[in-house]
Amino acid sequence: MKITAITTHLLDHKLDQRFESASSGFDRRTHLLVEVTTDAGLTGWGECLGPARLNAAVVQGMATLLIGQNPLETEKRWIEVYHAFRDQGQRGLTITALSGIDIALWDIRGKAWNAPVSTLLGGRFREQVTAYATGGFRKPGRDRVADIAAEVAGYKAEGFKAAKIKIGFDVEEDLEVIAACRAAIGPEMRLMIDANHGYDTVEAIRLGRLAEPYDIDWFEEPVLPEHLDAYADVRSNQPIPVAGGETWHGRWGMKDPVERRCVDILQPDICGTGGFTEGRRIADMCALHGIRLVPHVWGTGVQLAASLHYIAALPPNPPRPEPFSPMLEFDRTEMPFRQSILTCPIEPVAGVLTVPGGPGLGIEIDRNTLLGGVR
Ligand SMILES: [Mg+2]
Repeated sequence: MKITAITTHLLDHKLDQRFESASSGFDRRTHLLVEVTTDAGLTGWGECLGPARLNAAVVQGMATLLIGQNPLETEKRWIEVYHAFRDQGQRGLTITALSGIDIALWDIRGKAWNAPVSTLLGGRFREQVTAYATGGFRKPGRDRVADIAAEVAGYKAEGFKAAKIKIGFDVEEDLEVIAACRAAIGPEMRLMIDANHGYDTVEAIRLGRLAEPYDIDWFEEPVLPEHLDAYADVRSNQPIPVAGGETWHGRWGMKDPVERRCVDILQPDICGTGGFTEGRRIADMCALHGIRLVPHVWGTGVQLAASLHYIAALPPNPPRPEPFSPMLEFDRTEMPFRQSILTCPIEPVAGVLTVPGGPGLGIEIDRNTLLGGVR
């Protein structure tokens, strides 16, 4: 089998309501899908995390290395492309672009061998995955405390057992938001906080100490991702488990944070950290170092499917009768491509998602969405 074409599809949607994290403002949702076609009539789909137009340019640059090559040899393809870009691209866009290609090649592998990607990764340890609702962004013109408390109460009413909210703006106001959310959802539902690296070390330690009574599962991206010593300081000077990893790409991006024990929970994004080929290496790295892995997810239905296969195949660490199972991050902000890109959208039922069962990613792309069926 040979690769005949690599096509990038830009999805762009203007939002009705702007929303903000501590590091970014969102007026549009823009995502990039990668379609790999073969001379055997099989097509694979992948997705890239991050700036869609820049990812598209890098994917097209990589395509010249891949046309005519065997898509089933995923390890060879990954190493050849990475090596070709290594001198200027050990992290960042090289890895996010390669992620979309790699996921599409694994989709083809699964279709060629009539097996789900999670089976090819070694087998499923779980058929269902608990979703957590990601939201709680700041929206201009609204009372932030009341708005986010009402939002998370809505997630509870929908059946979610966990939710993550955005902080990192101002320690005192963020604590008000956290307190209001805990009061709105009661003691049972799990609550996580994500600062999107908006604090410095002093602020992050103070926030973590003062937020302890609100029973927080994890404190995500407390400080800048380049500041690994600051991460370690935050981890050792406040009581909430520290999470991070969505901006560390590939095994070389993960190596130092893992070895220096910057986080309790590593959050690789399958569409940003090198796809399944590199994602399994990072899972091994976490298991080796006794660090929990809970993936980051911020994309379309293609990413949801890929992330479900990745989570399904993560070995329990440690194994036991009812082992710990990673949750899947389910973005609840306005983003039509989450559903419209798939002919059968992936939706939680009572806060739980089922891993797709068909070959490859187990999804069918709705080409009407690619043609601009969603504004
Ligand atoms: Mg985050």
